[in-house]
Amino acid sequence: MTTSPQQQTNASRWIAARTAHFDSSGIRRVFDLAAKLKNPINLSIGQPHFDVPESVKQSMIQAIKDGRNGYSPTQGIAPLRERLLADVHREWPDSDRKLLVTSGTSGALNLALLALVDPGDEVIIFDPYFVMYAPLVRLASGIPVLVDTNAAFQIDLDRFVAALSPKTKLVLLNSPGNPTGVCLDEASVKEVAEICAQRNIALISDEIYRHFCFDTPFVSAAKFNPETIVVDGFSKSHAMTGWRLGFVHGPAEVVETMTKLQQYTYVCAPQPVQWAGLSALDCDVSPYMEDYRQKRDRLYAGLKDHYEIVKPDGAFYMYPKLPWGTGQKFVEKAIEHELLVIPGNIFSRHDTHFRLSFANTDEQLDRGIDVLRKIA
Ligand code: PMP
Repeated sequence: MTTSPQQQTNASRWIAARTAHFDSSGIRRVFDLAAKLKNPINLSIGQPHFDVPESVKQSMIQAIKDGRNGYSPTQGIAPLRERLLADVHREWPDSDRKLLVTSGTSGALNLALLALVDPGDEVIIFDPYFVMYAPLVRLASGIPVLVDTNAAFQIDLDRFVAALSPKTKLVLLNSPGNPTGVCLDEASVKEVAEICAQRNIALISDEIYRHFCFDTPFVSAAKFNPETIVVDGFSKSHAMTGWRLGFVHGPAEVVETMTKLQQYTYVCAPQPVQWAGLSALDCDVSPYMEDYRQKRDRLYAGLKDHYEIVKPDGAFYMYPKLPWGTGQKFVEKAIEHELLVIPGNIFSRHDTHFRLSFANTDEQLDRGIDVLRKIA
């Protein structure tokens, strides 16, 4: 169906101003160019290269066959919540954290921001950051305050403290991080968590990559600040990106408010997926993580003499410095060689880096390394 210019004009007048904060044109350009490639080397995708474990697929099928297809309670099916909460209480035995099952970690993030941010509230985000953070803060009528990390993508505490103001409502932490793959060091996580506690600032810790730590054990901000709101999910750990299952745990008032909001927005996470999630908790994902560690080493060894790279110790991303030009020009050059990567200005106000995902086969990684060496 074609639209006349008159219809377009009317329709564009209906679009709410808040949507202007969602600019996906940069990534879309990459995907549009990519669609024309016959045999692309795709190092652009933030999704595991392994499939959902077989036992988890079977649990999903069984749940559907058993007729578990209707709404679930807003807060999630009881067995999944109890199981997740048991893990939470094992990690933080003295806490009284409440838990809500959400539609993906994105659902948890969105509800947390809507629950906490009032118009004009400032939200600290460390740059580079996961693409959704700044637009979601704006959607909640907040003001994203970007704080540059240091050259190793660790938190610069002086810059952090300097960015705090009487309007600071919330700090968003993400470790291991997208797009850098960096695990924040324990000392700065502790410092940020304690400063938030002292100054009565809310703290969200996005722990979706917590299982992907290759060199040092994962550290949660909740270890140092019991009121931390932790968002997490199954997308990355169990390759369930398309199934939309996440969760949040934190102080009762916050989780209860989020539950209220979920009731009138997402309603609940898809019920069969929740039963599958329950069985996913019995899967040992450590062999996958070992696989990713080797892939990280392979990509790093292949590129380190040609690019300036902070060696990532988590997630499945690497964030090398651009060897020349702008992100856009560099990505176009990569695409000429059938390689897809993401320009860093999607994740940052600086156009200085690009993101690679090593969630791919060794063969594809080797093809990518060849191209990247050539165009460096
Ligand atoms: N947080 C981070 C840091 C992510 O990288 C992603 C996914 N790319 C999400 C949250 C959202 O994950 P989900 O699929 O569970 O919504």
